[in-house]
Amino acid sequence: MTRAAGHRVLIVGGGVAGLETMLALRALAGDRVDITLLAPELKFVNRSMAVEQPFTPQRVRGIRLERVVGDVQARWHRDALRRVDHEHRHVMTRADEQIPYDTLVLATGARFEENYADTLSYSGGSEGSSYRLMLHRLADGDIKRIAFVKPSGASWLLPLYDLALLTAAECATNDHPDVELTLVTPEEAPLAAFGKPVSDAVRRLCEERGIRLLTSSYAVAQPPSTLRIAPGKRHIRIDRVITQPRLVGRWIPGIPFDRDTFVPTDTAGHVRGLDDVFAAGDATNFPIKQGGLAAQQADAVAEAIAASVGVDIDPSRFHPTLRGVLLTGDEPRYLRADISGRAGDDSTISAEPLWWPPDKLAGRYLAPYLSSQTGAALDVHMPHGQHVAPVQITLDTQALIPV
Ligand SMILES: Cc1cc2nc3c(=O)[nH]c(=O)nc-3n(C[C@H](O)[C@H](O)[C@H](O)COP(=O)(O)OP(=O)(O)OC[C@H]3O[C@@H](n4cnc5c(N)ncnc54)[C@H](O)[C@@H]3O)c2cc1C
Repeated sequence: MTRAAGHRVLIVGGGVAGLETMLALRALAGDRVDITLLAPELKFVNRSMAVEQPFTPQRVRGIRLERVVGDVQARWHRDALRRVDHEHRHVMTRADEQIPYDTLVLATGARFEENYADTLSYSGGSEGSSYRLMLHRLADGDIKRIAFVKPSGASWLLPLYDLALLTAAECATNDHPDVELTLVTPEEAPLAAFGKPVSDAVRRLCEERGIRLLTSSYAVAQPPSTLRIAPGKRHIRIDRVITQPRLVGRWIPGIPFDRDTFVPTDTAGHVRGLDDVFAAGDATNFPIKQGGLAAQQADAVAEAIAASVGVDIDPSRFHPTLRGVLLTGDEPRYLRADISGRAGDDSTISAEPLWWPPDKLAGRYLAPYLSSQTGAALDVHMPHGQHVAPVQITLDTQALIPV
């Protein structure tokens, strides 16, 4: 479906930040903008749910990009970005096509760097079946000692904690008390980014579940079955290492980048030094990589663009608030912390939802949109209803209307 030609916004990347920008922009700017999404994959997959994959028979199903762009009356160009020629306001794609723009939004996520050989590195792709196999081997008694190793540098916050707690619950259910689970992390305290009350509660939870926590620690593999813990001379015996990739940026010719090839942005999401170019999500140089934060950056970008095309709006800046759902095998824990530096100690952990819809992926527009596709969040009981503003979805007309 084509909209009346307006200001041409090209969004590169069909992940969390790309889709949140697209949904927010359509909701805020209506037909003042003509939106094109440039993304190579057929489906958006919510990777935050991938940690459940080894433990449930359900598969993480994606949503077709064709459907999302159709719902917000945008265009989808199925290809990948090769370079940006900002002087002439166009990009070149891998298939050598030229796409013009008035405003460009880069939401290309991060690239993965693997640190350890012979490990299972969990990045929300096809690792679920290998992990399931490992659980079978645990059940059969073939392996007993698993280390969850968080890499140094940028990495996602929650997945290894989810996996360790879910694995501990699985062992408890199946009566395998002799399994040893260790979580090694460079963080000073578990999930330190969420603040002390959350860290203290997560530490207690790990203790209760029999997970040994080694904080301010780095693991050096000494094959075949030992990890050396640095600093210090400690060694631990292991049968299997579960880790996740270290994240680095993607180098895009024509775009500035920092030492780790992340794109430097200001709090409105402007790419430093380039008018009309924005970036959001894991691709940017904001040090914490998380889907909820990617969505908040995308909202700031969408508001800035909406204001620039004449919408009467006072665009808000990126004011980072972490929201995370920690899966424990029984009641999930909802974690929240305003990390903008303006809220004092705002660290909260609760067994009750702290935002709506209470999904692992907290995006103002994307979370309700994804829930609307399954109806899951529509029946949610929300005792402390607050924070992520509820959004009504009226597809085909104005897309999303915040209330
Ligand atoms: C196992 C796991 C569990 C997680 N759990 C949580 C959680 O509980 N809560 C949470 O908030 N976050 C969680 N995260 C993190 C979250 O998934 C990421 O932070 C989020 O996906 C980042 O969004 P993004 O849009 O910046 O990047 P991505 O979602 O990675 O999207 C990047 C997009 O850019 C596209 N792209 C890349 N290069 C190009 C190119 N050259 N041209 C065009 N397109 C390109 C990609 O194809 C993709 O569509 C988890 C991640 C994993 C792996």
